[in-house]
Amino acid sequence: MTGDERGGRLEVIAGPMFAGKTEELVRRVHRAQVARRGVLVVAHELDTRSGPGRVASHSGLAVPSRSVRAAAEIPALLTAGTELLAVDEAQFFGPDLVDVATELADAGVVVVVAGLSVTFDGRPFAPLPALMAVAESVTKLTAVCTVCGRDAAFHVRSGATPADDALAPTPGHVGGSESYEARCRRHRAG
Ligand code: ADP
Ligand code: MG
Repeated sequence: MTGDERGGRLEVIAGPMFAGKTEELVRRVHRAQVARRGVLVVAHELDTRSGPGRVASHSGLAVPSRSVRAAAEIPALLTAGTELLAVDEAQFFGPDLVDVATELADAGVVVVVAGLSVTFDGRPFAPLPALMAVAESVTKLTAVCTVCGRDAAFHVRSGATPADDALAPTPGHVGGSESYEARCRRHRAG
């Protein structure tokens, strides 16, 4: 079968922290598994939050994954039966992920990439903007602003250290020691 017949495509899931990007990635992986598609889930070695060998959402949804140090290592992990490749925390992989994801989609793989579209100071976060530009589908998610409950397209550093979190847990920090909070446009500046 040629790549074209297999229907390769690139799907991007983007947004700030806590937007549900990993939940959506895991949902698509589960659907592919129900359909008996060959699935490969890849994480970056720098992403230590979920623990080794798994991708996990803040709400506890998880799937087994392989970890790599660079985008260039991903193609070697695919087998002839890999029909869906899911990559979480795309921002860790840098610009090289754009060519790797494009080449695999061209070769017939459904490539689903989730990652942060903004930095903590509200700027576009590479390579998500470039991936969004060349994708068949883009799902842009928002979190809930921890100040007012509006749609949050941003996240900010809350200033809390992991030690502070242990002493006084902050709303929006679910089971983690991240010092970030989701914020709407109005509340991203303090
Ligand atoms: P992401 O991968 O985008 O960081 P996850 O999929 O890991 O997000 O987690 C999404 C979950 O995080 C939500 O379903 C909810 O349970 C939890 N959560 C915690 N804080 C927030 C928030 N401020 N806004 C939305 N969801 C939040
Ligand atoms: Mg995530």
